[in-house]
Amino acid sequence: MAIVIIGAGIGGLSAAIRLAAAGERVIVLEQNGHVGGKMSELALDGFRWDTGPSVITMRGVFEELFAAAGRKFEDYVTLLPLDPLTRYFYPDGAVLDATSDVAQMMQRIEAIAPGDAAGYRDYLAYAARIHRITGPVFIYDQPPTIRRILRTPLRDMPAVDPLRTMDDAIRSFVRSPHLRQMLGRFATYVGGNPFASPATLNVIADVELSGGVWYPRGGVYAIARAFERLARELGVDIVTDARVEGIDVEAGRVTGVRLHNGDRIPAEAIIANVDVATVYERLLPRAVVAPARLRRLVRAEPSCSGFLLLLGIEGEHPGLAHHNIFFSSDYRREFDDIFQRGIPPDEPTVYVSITSKSDPEHAPAGHENWFVMVTAPAYDDRYDWSVNAADYRERVLARLASFGLDVRGQIRVERLLTPLDLERMTGARRGALYGQSSNDRFSALRRPHNRASDVRGLYFAGGTAHPGGGVPMVTLSGKVAAGMVLEDLRP
Ligand SMILES: Cc1cc2nc3c(=O)[nH]c(=O)nc-3n(C[C@H](O)[C@H](O)[C@H](O)COP(=O)(O)OP(=O)(O)OC[C@H]3O[C@@H](n4cnc5c(N)ncnc54)[C@H](O)[C@@H]3O)c2cc1C
Repeated sequence: MAIVIIGAGIGGLSAAIRLAAAGERVIVLEQNGHVGGKMSELALDGFRWDTGPSVITMRGVFEELFAAAGRKFEDYVTLLPLDPLTRYFYPDGAVLDATSDVAQMMQRIEAIAPGDAAGYRDYLAYAARIHRITGPVFIYDQPPTIRRILRTPLRDMPAVDPLRTMDDAIRSFVRSPHLRQMLGRFATYVGGNPFASPATLNVIADVELSGGVWYPRGGVYAIARAFERLARELGVDIVTDARVEGIDVEAGRVTGVRLHNGDRIPAEAIIANVDVATVYERLLPRAVVAPARLRRLVRAEPSCSGFLLLLGIEGEHPGLAHHNIFFSSDYRREFDDIFQRGIPPDEPTVYVSITSKSDPEHAPAGHENWFVMVTAPAYDDRYDWSVNAADYRERVLARLASFGLDVRGQIRVERLLTPLDLERMTGARRGALYGQSSNDRFSALRRPHNRASDVRGLYFAGGTAHPGGGVPMVTLSGKVAAGMVLEDLRP
């Protein structure tokens, strides 16, 4: 009998590779016609965009996965280091090119935030310390347990900094509003709010500012392609256009899955690379689901979503880098809009990623492929995208125009994606990009574990399970889930 994986997102493929490398027979069932899930791409009229993740960090996670299968990641994907990591534009005209070269970064900081360079260096050391201490408990291994947390030496506990917010901690290191905004932005990498998330999440700054940002030659989707290729080489059976409609459970243990076409596939174990709440709500038999657990999962606060414009732009903009951020003038109000008022920000911070800066063939000569994204709330009835999307598009383009980038007359091709579209395209509940919210200090403890506690033989890999969302994280999630399957089946 095989181990069945439902979903060929990055977490599902990562688990498949681990299990196949360990000699297991693995079948991956994917409802779409292609693999990758939220990591996807679109080509239109000579332009090509990644439609999901654009910022890739933690290259070691991918290298380790391929090494576990006896391969070299670099034989499958060419990762180009990006410098600047990101170009930050501020409403007062200041521009900051972030780099992981600390000495150079300190010089650049002195130019726009005199007196803050040393505070920045101390902040980096603080973030690196959080990474060192929390990594083994919260990121790189099985879900945290109280017992494992208590094993953290007492002297290290304050360094984890769970009681302050991210913003409080940042303020204690640097005075410049420019730097505070830049460092607070890392909360959005897990769909969170820097004014509410625990300071522990400053770990993300270490990952990017010290670890670097990478661009896979050909587009971020090259990672999904590489995972698929390796999985197939290892003998994984990947079936696309195969929607799982139900998981069969007998005497408290999974026995197989049922497909949309009526086929049944028996399974020794099942890893769901599907939103955990959706598994409980739609795939498991009602009789095995405790109503309280389902309620908890369905009502959990989601991380944020996004509003996307994929633009084919005529003309070239030498002043822009591969990744660009155009900051709002009131960051706190922006996050209040998103997380308290449930509306997309009135004055948004706008992110523009242009892969044709690194891969010119992603746009026709003399053109650029802009991926424009604004952080938006996971949708609910407080904001009607079906009515407001066109107006909001105008607001985002006007915001870019206020930075001297009025491209409204240069758009040759366009696709607009709202949180509703993201839910439809990716299955993410309410369009949330990174699973449950990380906005309180217990989020990491509340995140669903990778082994179901109530159904034997059922496991979870992906952004809604430990250790959370983001491409490297879900790759690790697949590792943890596969490890648990092997622990249970072949002790
Ligand atoms: C617009 C956007 C921007 C992002 N930016 C970044 C970024 O810059 N950096 C970063 O690291 N991360 C980013 N992310 C997040 C990142 O893409 C996700 O965390 C990650 O790709 C999720 O992987 P996953 O393993 O959870 O699977 P998913 O991508 O959620 O895939 C799950 C798969 O399961 C399939 N499936 C679901 N139900 C069934 C069923 N019943 N039967 C069969 N198949 C099923 C789906 O079709 C899908 O293919 C972004 C996401 C989006 C959408």
